[in-house]
Amino acid sequence: MVSLQKMICLAKESRFDALDQGASPGIDLSKLYALGDATKHDVCVSSATTRVVSGLDRLGDVTRAGVCHSFSHDGRCVSMFKTLFTNECSHQCAYCSNSTVCTSSKEVYCYEPQELANIMLQLYRGNYVEGLFLSSGIGKDEDRTMERMLEATRLLREKHHFAGYVHLKILPGTDRDHVGQAMEFADRVSVNIEVPSSDHMSLMSPTKDYRNDILRRQRYVQRLARKKGLPAGQTTQLVVGGAGESDMEIFGSMVREYREYDLKRVYFSAFLPVEGTPLETTVPQPKWREHRLYQLDWLYRVYHMPPDELRLAFDAEDRLCNNDPKATIAKETITEPLDPNEASYDQLLRVPGIGQVSAKRIVSARRTKRFSTRKELHYLGVRLKRANPYLKVGGWQESLLERWMK
Ligand code: SF4
Repeated sequence: MVSLQKMICLAKESRFDALDQGASPGIDLSKLYALGDATKHDVCVSSATTRVVSGLDRLGDVTRAGVCHSFSHDGRCVSMFKTLFTNECSHQCAYCSNSTVCTSSKEVYCYEPQELANIMLQLYRGNYVEGLFLSSGIGKDEDRTMERMLEATRLLREKHHFAGYVHLKILPGTDRDHVGQAMEFADRVSVNIEVPSSDHMSLMSPTKDYRNDILRRQRYVQRLARKKGLPAGQTTQLVVGGAGESDMEIFGSMVREYREYDLKRVYFSAFLPVEGTPLETTVPQPKWREHRLYQLDWLYRVYHMPPDELRLAFDAEDRLCNNDPKATIAKETITEPLDPNEASYDQLLRVPGIGQVSAKRIVSARRTKRFSTRKELHYLGVRLKRANPYLKVGGWQESLLERWMK
């Protein structure tokens, strides 16, 4: 990931000189920094790790502003220029530095559509990015701001013939026609639901109408996508733990988003208090909570495990523990060690240490042979340290299974 500081250095060194020399005006680096940095709570890719990344030269932090990465519809990893269009906002979200209730002083910036298109093209030509992730504060009015975001994207697509990846944020409450236009220009669009219910929304963002501003816009996207298509689909983001929501509530919301709105991905962002906001003294949520939700998302979305089975990963208070949910569920459901020569693909997939690839390899290999040692499974990619207690191979099983499971 290229940090904003690095981008600014690049800009100072040479990469943006061409803009000054050409017809385009020079770049306001404070604006570039402020609007890039303001996207750090907007997630467009999963963290996939619980490691805390800190320090100026940190690598691998997906929330960091500047250039981030996402996956296009064909599975390719795309580096993207991630920025807000403006950090002005008329909403009162209790967790956001752009909201009207945030008391910290900040400079308000806004791009001109052509200015943003120029920066994007410069970064693209410099080979730093392949795509654009464009989000925004509401400005004074969601439709006016959305129009200007659309104009920037239209300039990129029609005037400059930019055919790269574009992820556009649909602002809450945006007019239906604007949603349609956004879907013509973008590969992926997203409306952030942020919280699992209207009640949570009234705590976190009292000026937003959960059903009308958020869910109805998601429905617009879904209907248009079914008619006309949307290459990389619709996504959303949930803040984890800002409004006291339980993991089960977040999970329920995730399932609803996939089932009822055809979402391609649901992203999670562990709540972090921002100075000057009404929630500045609220306890930050551990990164592992976000990570465990991503693991659960994987089991639902990729393994197609039913919600009822996944609910076994939660405790009596609807929380996830800091453990792999697959292992927690396996302890509940796999009561007898499985023979890899007999177990079905679905049964194998539920064994910790066996993923889709190794389960397929086992099923394929046993057409011509029988497994008699654990080493043979190891060669097929099974992580024996995790899988051993759940397997019976060559008549042998771990004698301590029951004790180990306690
Ligand atoms: S609508 Fe978005 S930018 Fe505006 S205050 Fe809420 S979270 Fe922040």
